[in-house]
Amino acid sequence: MQTSTDTIQSNFSLKEFNTFGLDCTAGGFLRVDNPAQLSRLPELISRYENYLILGGGSNLLLPDYFDGLVVQIALDKLQTRKSDSDVLVNAGGGLNWHELVTFCVKENYGGLENLALIPGSTGAAPIQNIGAYGVELKDVFVCLNAFDLQSGEYRCFNREEMEFGYRDSVFKGRHKGRFIISDVWLKLTTKNHRINTSYGSLAAHLKNKGIDNPGIADVFNAVVEVRRSKLPDPGQIGNAGSFFKNPVVDAGNLESIREKHPDVVFFELKGPEVMYKIPAGWLIERCGFKGKFKGSVGCYEKQALVLVNRGGAKSSDLVSFAGEIQHSVAAEFGIPLEPEVNIVQPENYGNVISL
Ligand SMILES: Cc1cc2nc3c(=O)[nH]c(=O)nc-3n(C[C@H](O)[C@H](O)[C@H](O)COP(=O)(O)OP(=O)(O)OC[C@H]3O[C@@H](n4cnc5c(N)ncnc54)[C@H](O)[C@@H]3O)c2cc1C
Repeated sequence: MQTSTDTIQSNFSLKEFNTFGLDCTAGGFLRVDNPAQLSRLPELISRYENYLILGGGSNLLLPDYFDGLVVQIALDKLQTRKSDSDVLVNAGGGLNWHELVTFCVKENYGGLENLALIPGSTGAAPIQNIGAYGVELKDVFVCLNAFDLQSGEYRCFNREEMEFGYRDSVFKGRHKGRFIISDVWLKLTTKNHRINTSYGSLAAHLKNKGIDNPGIADVFNAVVEVRRSKLPDPGQIGNAGSFFKNPVVDAGNLESIREKHPDVVFFELKGPEVMYKIPAGWLIERCGFKGKFKGSVGCYEKQALVLVNRGGAKSSDLVSFAGEIQHSVAAEFGIPLEPEVNIVQPENYGNVISL
């Protein structure tokens, strides 16, 4: 039996559902706020050419028209299981991530405080293994439950099966689009919190405030303050955070870049082979894009890695601006920049270099 919540809305505007603020219209739109709806999805989706799973729309570059069904995940259950020294938090895929972090900090559950103020939903967080200020989601991840749109059954993915990497997981690779993440299990501390202030700007901010032995609430507040001072608020100016991933190069590549650019910024990565991460923002800034605009699309004045829509941009404006950046960085440094943002229907535009 179908419920009224299966009502599909036609020609639905997604302007309020993507943080770039792009005026995208979806052929069909369905909100899923009850797990019982999931089993009906394969049939509903089969009526359309394409489908797109949507969380908070903060990591998407949508087309002007999406010819298919957009399914927004709004499952928002929250339960906890406490033991002596830790707590298992089970959060619905549609829960707002920052609200979950805020709840955990208020309850004195440690582990998420460095990931404060990242927009979007809890279900999307494991997909790109969200990370900030020295912490990644994988550090607290236990497992997740996902509904398989192919088999119509649920599957549990543990940490190993997630194949987490830098802004990466199995859901960005071979399982892309196949599963709906219904809920996520995280393991957090209730005492002896592992405070992480290794990230330079976070440590400096706490020092400036005279906080020597921060607790999780101090770290949470500092992260919120630092982020607010550096990143544009999507409520004020359209953006999807970092547009590109930070590239990782080997020693040979780094050396040839250093010959021409001795001041290149890089961080050594631990691993079997020594590799180096170069901040994409530095590369883009060096190519002269920081604060540069073409119409309403450009690079944010305070952080070149963030592409912004000052209002009225078309999807193709952002795609072609991103393509220009990729071409410049490739020409100057020989480095291909890979988008971190999910570009929906790139074949329609063809301007972003696919890697
Ligand atoms: C201002 C700003 C700052 C940001 N800072 C950071 C940062 O510090 N670190 C970081 O890692 N990211 C950051 N991001 C990126 C973004 O917030 C994260 O990637 C976030 O996890 C995306 O969540 P979302 O719900 O908005 O996903 P969406 O944009 O809605 O979707 C992203 C992808 O996940 C899929 N998806 C979404 N929900 C589900 C689900 N339940 N099941 C299956 N698939 C799903 C979508 O199909 C899509 O492929 C930032 C973004 C902005 C706008």
